[in-house]
Amino acid sequence: MKTEENVGDQSIIWAQSGREKWPATLNLVPGIYAYGEKVVKHDGSEYRVWNPFRSKLAAALLNGLKRLPFRKGSSILYLGVSTGTTASHISDIIGEEGVLYGVEFAPRVAREFVENIARHRLNVVPIVDDARHPERYGLVASRVDLVYVDIAQPDQTEIAVRNCISYLKANGDLLLVVKAPSIDVTKNPQEIVENESEKIVESGFHILQIIKLEPFDSAHWLIHAKKKG
Ligand code: SAM
Repeated sequence: MKTEENVGDQSIIWAQSGREKWPATLNLVPGIYAYGEKVVKHDGSEYRVWNPFRSKLAAALLNGLKRLPFRKGSSILYLGVSTGTTASHISDIIGEEGVLYGVEFAPRVAREFVENIARHRLNVVPIVDDARHPERYGLVASRVDLVYVDIAQPDQTEIAVRNCISYLKANGDLLLVVKAPSIDVTKNPQEIVENESEKIVESGFHILQIIKLEPFDSAHWLIHAKKKG
């Protein structure tokens, strides 16, 4: 659903990309780019086009995510930040007042994330560690507005819930990417997403939306849930 309701503030616009309109975020660090993304000018400012084939969050926006559960000043714990493609756009939106803690356990990928993204963006804090051990991050007295999870692991929902118990505020949001084949290649993907949603509900969340990410990513869904107060 491509409406203003999706976007919430000035840091995101819809830009023409070929025959489609894609979201674009106000570049927090003009002149510095993250992944060879297209750049457009709007009202004299530089916006980076958010490619839904490269970022599942952009795919979810195009496929009907009603609301991005963060804004200027939000705090976010991001598990599986990889080289930071999606994180860079979130960093644009939360601005200098916000903070994104990006957890990544693969050393080479984490190094690229630090070099290309965290080094240039003061609101991005890299954490090179395994998301299975949230107690090791050393986030002192930090509770975040959103936990974003994209780790493609069979036990990812359990990992997500453990991180939410440690770090998510009451009434905070969870965005969980489900890649069905990473959980069980033998099962029906729709059944998998339903099972994972049930686990989230049993852990004290309401499900707000479940969005299929095709045609951008096959057998992927994004679950948006809210922690009960
Ligand atoms: N979210 C990224 C984006 O949109 O740009 C893509 C993430 S990629 C699908 C999954 C990443 O999760 C990989 O970089 C992988 O190394 C990382 N990962 C998987 N299991 C992890 C764990 N237990 N702890 C930390 N990172 C993990």
